[in-house]
Parts: sequence; structure tokens; C-alpha cells
Amino acid sequence: MVQALACPACSATTLDVHDCESMMALGANTALFSLRCPTCGARISSIQPVPADMHGELYDAAVRVGAMGFLNAQ
Ligand SMILES: [Zn+2]
Repeated sequence: MVQALACPACSATTLDVHDCESMMALGANTALFSLRCPTCGARISSIQPVPADMHGELYDAAVRVGAMGFLNAQ
């Protein structure tokens, strides 16, 4: 599944949260994604629902930073 975002700088719609440079979990299913537009190079931060196929990645990241209590509290 591709979850596309539109670039606010050049309106390209080829951004995909799967290509994000970093992802900061805000909850069990929501994260702040930081990504760079492949068309114009703008850095974009966007709060998006975490795609189902990235839940494992979010889980792994939570384990690494010891945030499991945070996720379980959702
Ligand atoms: Zn752009």
C-alpha cells in the first residue's frame, strides 16, 4: 500500500511515508513523519496514520527506546 503525500512546496504527489527519513510515534497508530521531497528537496514533516505494513517498524522502534508502556497505554 502506498500512502502518498503532497509536497507543500512543489505539489509533487510522489512522496511516500515509507521513504521517510525519520518517524516519531505519537500514538499506536499515528506518527510524525519527516521526509524529503524527491522532486524539489524540501523537508516535510507531516502527521500521518501509520500504514499497517509499518506497524512492525513502529513497534521495533518503541522497543528500542523503551516506550512499550507508552504504546500499550493506547
Ligand atoms: Zn517538492
